[in-house]
Amino acid sequence: MEKDSIQAVLLTESQIAERVEQLGKQISQDYQGNDLVLVGILKGAICFFSDLIRQVEIPVNIDFMAVSSYGSASQTSGVVKILKDLDMPIEGRHVLIVEDIVDTGLTLNYLKTNLLSRNPASLKVVALLDKPDRRQIDIQADYLGFSIPDHFVVGYGIDYAEQYRSLPYVAILDPAAYQSQAKE
Ligand code: 5GP
Repeated sequence: MEKDSIQAVLLTESQIAERVEQLGKQISQDYQGNDLVLVGILKGAICFFSDLIRQVEIPVNIDFMAVSSYGSASQTSGVVKILKDLDMPIEGRHVLIVEDIVDTGLTLNYLKTNLLSRNPASLKVVALLDKPDRRQIDIQADYLGFSIPDHFVVGYGIDYAEQYRSLPYVAILDPAAYQSQAKE
């Protein structure tokens, strides 16, 4: 069963909700009076995105991008492919990327470079999780939920092989669970 592979709960539902509320308030203050587009990065950011937009107290537009990085889940190559692009133009608008995890930083670096080339008025990032130990490139989220140690995590939208996304908390996956699956 899915839950047998969970080693420990890293962030509970209430810890996440409290932090997301704080982030929403901060973003509302900072972007007051601005034309803000929140760009959710599919699929991992879906829970964070849907909770966050309900804590942002100013009017926003929403849009999504889906990207895949070549390489395994634990070894990103830095080569990113856009699977779904934005529906709306962002030129002259204030854009906030909503990402699940910044790990090596390669995906976020690609996304920022790509979106900056479309001339937004500003471009910032809010990430739920940061794993600074694995960073390969000097890049930071402007708003951050939690900095976490180098564990492979799942839940709250974040998957392993498309499983675990619907867990309401963030959990550490038992390494044996995915090593054994990888060998199959
Ligand atoms: P980066 O390009 O920063 O190395 O990778 C970012 C992406 O890798 C995240 O958006 C996420 O999809 C995936 N990723 C990084 N760390 C983890 C993790 O601990 N668990 C899962 N499931 N995905 C991760």
